[in-house]
Amino acid sequence: MSTPYPVTIWHNVTLSGSSGHVVSNSFQSDLGARDLRHVWHPCTQMRDHAPGDQIMPMIPIRRGEGVWLEDFNGKRYLDAISSWWTNLFGHANPRIGSAIKQQLDSLEHVMLAGFTHEPVIRLSEQLVKLTPEGLTRCFYADNGSSAIEVAAKMSFHYWHNQGKHQKRRFITLENSYHGETLGALALGSVELYKQIYQPLLMDVITAPSPDCFNREPGESWESHSRKMIQPMRKLLEQHAEDVCAVIIEPLVQCAGSMRMYHPIYLKLLREACDEFGVHLIADEIAVGFGRTGTLFACEQAGITPDFMCLSKGLTGGYLPLSVVLTHEAVYQAFYDEYTSLRAFLHSHSYTGNPLACAAALATLDIFATEPVIERNFQLIQHLRQRTEALKDHPHVAEVRQHGMICAIEMIKNKQTGEAYDWRERRGLRIYHHGLKQGALLRPVGNVVYFMPPYVITPQEIDFLVDTATQGIELATCD
Ligand SMILES: *Cc1c(COP(=O)(O)O)cnc(C)c1O
Repeated sequence: MSTPYPVTIWHNVTLSGSSGHVVSNSFQSDLGARDLRHVWHPCTQMRDHAPGDQIMPMIPIRRGEGVWLEDFNGKRYLDAISSWWTNLFGHANPRIGSAIKQQLDSLEHVMLAGFTHEPVIRLSEQLVKLTPEGLTRCFYADNGSSAIEVAAKMSFHYWHNQGKHQKRRFITLENSYHGETLGALALGSVELYKQIYQPLLMDVITAPSPDCFNREPGESWESHSRKMIQPMRKLLEQHAEDVCAVIIEPLVQCAGSMRMYHPIYLKLLREACDEFGVHLIADEIAVGFGRTGTLFACEQAGITPDFMCLSKGLTGGYLPLSVVLTHEAVYQAFYDEYTSLRAFLHSHSYTGNPLACAAALATLDIFATEPVIERNFQLIQHLRQRTEALKDHPHVAEVRQHGMICAIEMIKNKQTGEAYDWRERRGLRIYHHGLKQGALLRPVGNVVYFMPPYVITPQEIDFLVDTATQGIELATCD
């Protein structure tokens, strides 16, 4: 294979400090086979795992360390996607691990209704300090989708408690993703996940996305995103009476193929929501905790949403936890005599679990004691420089980046803008090539992306970019 790009072939090295004993291939394949007898995997056509075809081999993982995952043969994979965007400071992080172990010895769980514990109190105090000004109340759940359900119900219920009973719809953006439970699914608009369940879903209003991939040739991100507020304003004007909230993923539509937009849109949207008396829900589940370069994406627009949903990186990728932050006006609209029936009667069994809160506190402690954002800035620059050349590839439509998220969009015909047919599954070739080379790259459709843990080194970024570049060659050579 010849490529016009400088490419280094990297060899796998076994983790230093790994036990060294040889685990046979057959043990690994035996685990794989046992898995497939009973485990039904998420977001997967299980037929892809059928032995023989090996469209996707099942890979049992034995251990992790930093950015690396290691299988039972001692083969390592650089976790370029942070285990579905959750991991921030590497696998087997000693600070987070020991915080959980310590918590484990005193209190593993207690229900959060009527009872409380120190980790959830401290975490709430810290989140209020770190998130945009004005967010003072923390409501917990145990995964991202549930946080979205909480925010949607709270917004609806707030308006209900204000006597605005006709407000019961939501505005969402095209190509948005907010999770998989029925409410969250309805609020998103990635057709691949949503279409089949449409008969079960509440009806939402969908506004065009400020996604800058769609900008005119020569148009700046800012000018495109600014323009795209117009159709949103029109919808708000039309529906102000019956809409509770607009829900958005600030700056990056991650599951929607890492499409990105300019912070100006958030600023203009905040103004429009205020003008028309509609809540703004910021789903920072994927982009929160430094992913876009700032601790929270909303900071780049200087806005405070009415609801901010956090999960994924909240615990550093250790344990399931999510939280919805809101402001006093929302809280007060529920605060009344019990018999008024204005309370928010929503709960999950593991709401505010102490172990998960301890992991979150340890994660925030790393942000507080290490120059994470500054260090990331160097990595962000490096990633930008190293992916720059890919822009000229004949089958790359765009290389885009917001902080620690960098995406490369492959295209069939750069001149006409014709996309590759999704049925060709070209991203899968990159996935296979990555695994062979020792990188966990998991393209979404025709988009390869990097969203690595923050403990990645510049050399490891080089390795990822080289591997992805080779993969793109393989995926686009016919
Ligand atoms: C992952 C994600 C969710 C859903 O979180 P889960 O914990 O997977 O339910 C919601 N919104 C965004 C933006 C996400 O990336």
